[in-house]
Amino acid sequence: MKQFACGDVVPSCGRTFAAPTEDDILTAVAGHARDDHGLIDTPASLVDQVRAAIRTA
Ligand SMILES: [Zn+2]
Repeated sequence: MKQFACGDVVPSCGRTFAAPTEDDILTAVAGHARDDHGLIDTPASLVDQVRAAIRTA
């Protein structure tokens, strides 16, 4: 299981994610970034930050 805490990238955000694969996390985070952070397109630099912050549980 992979885990990601949005707060690792956006310090004010308390949202956390858990999914079987890194790709599933990235899909969920992209939706969250769009809906809750107003990011229509997720910049590649942000994707790299998210990837770096994903933990394996
Ligand atoms: Zn967030």
